[in-house]
Amino acid sequence: MPRTSIHRIGDLLANAHLLVGEEAVLVDTGWPGRRDAVAKGLRRAGLRPSDISRIVLTHHHPDHAGNAAALKSEAGAMILAHPADAPFIEGKERPPAGSDFSRAGRMLSRFPRPVLKCSAYPAAAVDGFLEDGSEVEGLPGTLVMHVPGHTPGSVCLHNPGEGWLLAGDAVSHMLGKLWLPTLSFSWDLEGVLDGVRRIISTEVREIHFGHGPPLRGDDACDRLSSFLKKRSRMCLS
Ligand SMILES: [Zn+2]
Ligand SMILES: [Zn+2]
Repeated sequence: MPRTSIHRIGDLLANAHLLVGEEAVLVDTGWPGRRDAVAKGLRRAGLRPSDISRIVLTHHHPDHAGNAAALKSEAGAMILAHPADAPFIEGKERPPAGSDFSRAGRMLSRFPRPVLKCSAYPAAAVDGFLEDGSEVEGLPGTLVMHVPGHTPGSVCLHNPGEGWLLAGDAVSHMLGKLWLPTLSFSWDLEGVLDGVRRIISTEVREIHFGHGPPLRGDDACDRLSSFLKKRSRMCLS
């Protein structure tokens, strides 16, 4: 079976990824109003929005789900997300404005209106649920890994046979460094740390991120492990 090809559509403030296996699957959709940047990224890979069969959302934040509704109607694609984030994507529930475990997050929660205004995007109906351990249809060997932490329904995609993982916002890689997700916008700190531990335990050699370029090499998970040791000391102290 040919290896899944992974195209980073990185000319957004956040990455979307095009994964091509048996079908073409778009993972995340960029900030609201950036639909053209996604379409340009698809064109670079020789595809059009109508070639996409499924849109996987790693979580409900606007930099990932912002163009889901537009691309869904254009592509006629199914939207897949974890059930815990689906009510936010569908506009049925309002997400919390900030986390309750960080000082900045608590401050944001006290003044939610500007945050909610900036993070609004057109609601999109979710057509199917991503459950931990299930295989993504159209991408043989690619499994859903539920990592509740950044949001309750955050997911990574993991292909153990091919040795890669797509992390969403569970961890980022920007300016040459690894980063935990912004804690003021995250849901549960222990969950964030557990999610990174779970990524490390996969021992993959290639990690793709919602923000920043991929990390490749036999030491990818070792680098993540040393980062987590330092960072969790700071978070929990
Ligand atoms: Zn996020
Ligand atoms: Zn993000």
